[in-house]
Amino acid sequence: MFGAEHVADAKRYERVLYAIWALAQLSLLATLGLYARRGAALARESSAGPIGTGMLLGMLGLGIAWLVGLPFRLAAHWWERRHDLTEAGYLSRVLDEWAVLGAQFLAISLALLVVMALARGLGERWWLPGAAVFVALAGAFAFVAPYLDFETEPLRDGELLAASEEYRRELGLGEIPLRVLEVSDDSQQANAYAYGIGPSRRVVFWDTILEAPFDEGEQRVVLAHELAHHSQRHLPEGLGWFALFAVPGAWILMRATRRRGGLGTPEAVPLALLVAACLQLALAPAANLVSRRMEAEADWVALEVTRDPASLERLMVGFAETSLGDPDPPLWAQLVLGTHPPLVDRVAMARAWEAARR
Ligand SMILES: [Zn+2]
Repeated sequence: MFGAEHVADAKRYERVLYAIWALAQLSLLATLGLYARRGAALARESSAGPIGTGMLLGMLGLGIAWLVGLPFRLAAHWWERRHDLTEAGYLSRVLDEWAVLGAQFLAISLALLVVMALARGLGERWWLPGAAVFVALAGAFAFVAPYLDFETEPLRDGELLAASEEYRRELGLGEIPLRVLEVSDDSQQANAYAYGIGPSRRVVFWDTILEAPFDEGEQRVVLAHELAHHSQRHLPEGLGWFALFAVPGAWILMRATRRRGGLGTPEAVPLALLVAACLQLALAPAANLVSRRMEAEADWVALEVTRDPASLERLMVGFAETSLGDPDPPLWAQLVLGTHPPLVDRVAMARAWEAARR
């Protein structure tokens, strides 16, 4: 299906990215471990008040983590450039991160402000209301994110717009704007995503998926898949899953920081960052499992509305070619990094759908 030569190339290509990823994770945890031991001393030299000091330590930890990860992200970028997957320069690769980094600084400051204030007021009982605040913040961000996008343009493809109207009627969806993000100057990789909640729902196509090698049929499958994320309410459902993880996560954070005086004291913040990073890594397999189920459901719904399994198959081959993706990645990589089912499984589902219809 994907061609033996392509699969061999893709496996070679991805093996290096896996190694870079593993080294980046190790150095992140090592650095945060060091910061957890030494960072507390910095708290005593600050005159910003306990919560202000905690927020400063949080931002400092985030800044250090960003800096430690930078060489690995640049190495991965070098590897992508070597394989002609991107033409973006190294400087623009770094500058592209500023918006995300800014949002992370804001998020960590806000989270620490709330959690530290709660911990100072409620003592160790902060974790339950704290978890609720995390979920509320995540929900607010999921709702607002589409309104913070100033880069995309409305989609002008008449055929896709007509298909969208038809699929939305079938899926019982109201108006959902379709937008296009221009990436083709830098990249040939193709992507699309659905985001927003309720009135902020949107679908965004990278412009690379609107041109060759992708044809109309494949673009319609992408459209149907993204609309399915909205019709199956995957984003609110994802928030529900986040809530299920946030409650025990906040409790673990409370217990782990106890010996540093709890999260009401700034000395506990560097340790809290380490615990949060470990939790994120430990929970990745569970989060990816949830994500893969949603993606499989979106594929299934896309088959139901397009009735075009052949286009879904071709789309998967196109993805493998344009991103040098391994159609059948090793099990560990699926568990730790696989947000989508492997391309071979997605093809198998298209064939199963067709067989069931016959
Ligand atoms: Zn999807």
